[in-house]
Amino acid sequence: MTVERLYLDCFRNYQKCTVEFLSAINVICGKNAQGKTNLIEAIYYLATGRTFRSVGDKELINFDFQSASIRADIVSSEREQKLEARFSRDRRRELYVNDVKIKKGSELTGRLTVVLFCPDDLTIIKDGASVRRKLMDSCLSQLRPAYHATLSEFNRLYDHKTRILKDHHEKPGLLELLDDHNLRLAELSAKLIYYRAAFAGELSKRASIIHKDFSDGREYLEINYKTVGGMDASNKKPDELLPQLLLHQEKHKIAEIRSGQCLSGAHKDDLEIFINKIAARKFASQGQARTAAVSIKLAERDIHYEDKREYPVLLLDDVLSELDPKRQSFVLERIENGQVFITCCDDAVATFSGGAKTIEIEDGRAI
Ligand code: ATP
Ligand code: MG
Repeated sequence: MTVERLYLDCFRNYQKCTVEFLSAINVICGKNAQGKTNLIEAIYYLATGRTFRSVGDKELINFDFQSASIRADIVSSEREQKLEARFSRDRRRELYVNDVKIKKGSELTGRLTVVLFCPDDLTIIKDGASVRRKLMDSCLSQLRPAYHATLSEFNRLYDHKTRILKDHHEKPGLLELLDDHNLRLAELSAKLIYYRAAFAGELSKRASIIHKDFSDGREYLEINYKTVGGMDASNKKPDELLPQLLLHQEKHKIAEIRSGQCLSGAHKDDLEIFINKIAARKFASQGQARTAAVSIKLAERDIHYEDKREYPVLLLDDVLSELDPKRQSFVLERIENGQVFITCCDDAVATFSGGAKTIEIEDGRAI
């Protein structure tokens, strides 16, 4: 997959800007606060229909303007396609594929697949379980439209169930709906768990090889999938998982009604990450956490390739800073295939050999 051209119009600190890219490495360089991450964000938005920074769509519009757009010419499965997002201060954002308006962001799935590494990804190692569920969800949603649909339905029913558990004191009749919701949620959980367990196994296998090379053989990374009640989900089909999920749910039914919270289901999942058998969340150093996060992202990219026989576009924002020269060159060796966007400050440009295209960004303009 490649992004051939990107057109920005009043997006963030850009006004009108067109950039052409190579299908290999594109180095986005410049001083701080010039618009490097903004450019990565634009590509990410067209791939996923959302930004990776936690802001609303209106914040993407240049402060001095009322509307904005991002457009890209891409090649995916050997077909040329156009993706576009339009933003306005007084309307909802609009998405277009080949100039035809689409209804939902999910219709973008599979057109432009991206794997992003940004400095915030250290949270994968250090923060709570929700970040790691998001990692699984975003990767699996790009790979499997069926997963995306299951997850959306799960989230919708989870919200319903939470409302039942919270509001039943005022409206006791609501509890009659609980059993139906529980059954459906367990069925959906079984599907999500089935996909996640397989994905986590593959991720662990690949990321640990990458992390070992990355750390000169000194560190062994391990990722274990953890789901409700310590259940072993590996190599189990959804219908084999369902009875155990229903049992777990039944055991927690009274506690759920008392606490007003859903205590059983796939929303509790996590990935446990160990480096040399020690829990990374508690004990990893800054450098170890960064190395592990990059290894996980590179593994995610390999999984996409293995599945689709086409490399997803790799977006690396600020990956080189904080890495020693040896680890930097390891990253550069690993990104020889497929299209890559990598931001860095001007000093780091020399790290890249010929064959890469350097795009200097200055005050919202590509030079
Ligand atoms: P760094 O090297 O520090 O990471 P960067 O080149 O990645 O810098 P960006 O994050 O792309 O910088 O941001 C560039 C500038 O864009 C920032 O100064 C930011 O304030 C500005 N900016 C962000 N949103 C908007 C907006 N909606 N309108 C105008 N400017 C904006
Ligand atoms: Mg930046």
